[in-house]
Amino acid sequence: MSDLRVRFAPSPTGYLHIGGARTALFNYLLAQQQSGTFVLRIEDTDVARSTQESVDAILDAMDWLGLTCDEGPFYQSDRSELYKEKIEQLLAEGKAYRCYCTQEELDAKREAALASGGKPKYDGTCRTRTDQPEQPYVVRFRLPNDEGVTHFNDRIKGGISIRHQELDDLILQRSDGTPTYNLVVVIDDAEMGINLVVRGDDHINNTPRQILLYEALGYQVPEFAHVPMILGADKKRLSKRHGATSVMAYQAMGYLPEALVNYLVRLGWSYGDEEIFSMGELIEKFSLNNVGKSAGVFNPEKLLWLNAHYIKTGDASRLAALLTEFLEAKGIVPSEGPDLVAVVESLRERASTLVEMADGAAFYFSDELAYDEKAHNKFLTEGHRALLSGICEQLRECSGFDEADLEAAFAKVMERFSLKFGKVAQPLRVALTGGTASPSIYDVLKVLGKERSLYRIERALTVLV
Ligand code: GLU
Repeated sequence: MSDLRVRFAPSPTGYLHIGGARTALFNYLLAQQQSGTFVLRIEDTDVARSTQESVDAILDAMDWLGLTCDEGPFYQSDRSELYKEKIEQLLAEGKAYRCYCTQEELDAKREAALASGGKPKYDGTCRTRTDQPEQPYVVRFRLPNDEGVTHFNDRIKGGISIRHQELDDLILQRSDGTPTYNLVVVIDDAEMGINLVVRGDDHINNTPRQILLYEALGYQVPEFAHVPMILGADKKRLSKRHGATSVMAYQAMGYLPEALVNYLVRLGWSYGDEEIFSMGELIEKFSLNNVGKSAGVFNPEKLLWLNAHYIKTGDASRLAALLTEFLEAKGIVPSEGPDLVAVVESLRERASTLVEMADGAAFYFSDELAYDEKAHNKFLTEGHRALLSGICEQLRECSGFDEADLEAAFAKVMERFSLKFGKVAQPLRVALTGGTASPSIYDVLKVLGKERSLYRIERALTVLV
């Protein structure tokens, strides 16, 4: 085991967003690759916005993507004693102070600062205060009020510096006694031994403040890697306007987790011009060095293309098991139909999602087909009676029902009626599937089997127009 310790630290205020999933994935890959440790921490200090439902949704989505953690989940709501202790420590050492300024006072100061063209930062009124009046207060971090600079080397973004003059004495504890994100994230990352923080670059402005807090608390500062945002096609931050952003919405739309994993990792990371990566290959090849500095643009067509790839090439029994849920959602009872693995094999070339596959599979499960009206009027006519009866007779004579048996039967029918393959196949297709688009006619016959196929042709013979 290496000593790399990384973490994913979602706030349970909603479902797992695909941006968050990518951050989790990068952490997971690094830990797997280096035999390090992947910690999961639920940042639920914002009691008003955190819900158990969101925690469950996040855990389910990580599970679906295969992002197993090595430690956790830990919950910040279980750790308030530790945070209190650290706040006391900072107060005792004079590194933090109680601020009694009211909201009205702060608003007035802010306006005055803005009016005089200054920065609207806290003016430090309570920095030197020594009394402790009986009134609500927040605890602020006493940032270095000097000409200094805090610098760090981001593993993705490169060197980043911020002048202390630009920083505000940030709040560590709210007036209701709850600690703030910037404090608890530092305490937890340090106490959990995290030595590389990989997170979204929406937090990059927090990092210099957090570094100063690490130092004030006597902790070792970890390394940081800030992952660029995901944007929509209009270059605006990805949101619902651009389509689904929840990981589990993709599951519901019939995507495979390996397609989403492959897509998300490539969105921001590259390896030559390779596009297809299994989780195993990603663990081997992923590197922060090849993560781009700028935002990636979400491309739903590419995700769909990858999904189609994994549907074409995935293990058919597994796909059959996954398809079951989608068939059931359509009111189909899969066990009453033909072999599901054979169904998948016949449809995988034509379906980009499991939803599409379930739509395409429906005909297999209904011997009492509803025929497409146009197809019915064109191909199931009295003019086709002799042909359909002839096909039926020929198929009934087949001793086996594999490709060679079917080819031989077709050859005889084609000869007997002097028709080309298509002219034989199309009426038969409508009789077997209800429409004119389906997998190859031999595949349909094989999947349905002799008995079901004959039943459907005979039934078609009773509805000719
Ligand atoms: N809980 C924070 C969020 O969900 C993550 C903080 C971090 O990774 O440092 O945005």
